Amino acid sequence: MKDLKSLNQLIEILEELPSIGKKSATRLAISLAKDKYKALKLINALENAISSIQECQICGNFSEHEICEICDNPHRDKTLAIVESSKDILTIEESGSYNGYYFVLSHLDDENIQKLKDIIKEKEIKEVIFAFPPSVESEARVMLLEDKLKDMNVDFSQIAQGVPTGVQFENVDINSLAKAIKLRVKLH
Ligand SMILES: [Zn+2]
Repeated sequence: MKDLKSLNQLIEILEELPSIGKKSATRLAISLAKDKYKALKLINALENAISSIQECQICGNFSEHEICEICDNPHRDKTLAIVESSKDILTIEESGSYNGYYFVLSHLDDENIQKLKDIIKEKEIKEVIFAFPPSVESEARVMLLEDKLKDMNVDFSQIAQGVPTGVQFENVDINSLAKAIKLRVKLH
């Protein structure tokens, strides 16, 4: 319908969000169009989030400050979990099974390797835990990282295989992820 152009635009934008299909997008758009107060609250929350949430300069975690509260806490364990994305940090923190530091390795390049070395030195890290979902690519990445970090005088470990292959962390139940971290295996 032509005179519903703006509603259709809203549906299209909502549909671009992760895990929102056409049906949910339509339902959300109609609900927002009906309830203007809720819609304005959403706009306000979005604006706040966009202007205040940034990436921690040290680890890449979501943060409202230049340095996130985890990096800023000197009392955490001297372990460093390398994860694929900052949403994995949220999942692991929620599991309550881990009390070390994190590093978000979105892609493997010299800049990230240097950042990793810096955080290992600065936080006096003793153990580096590869917390990637198991896959062939993860295996290759772990080997490469071990090689790049071999002079850092740290132990390497990998989360246990409690996490099903090819499954995103957010879809893994918290208990099995907690277990995978607790039962992590030492490499070599
Ligand atoms: Zn941080």
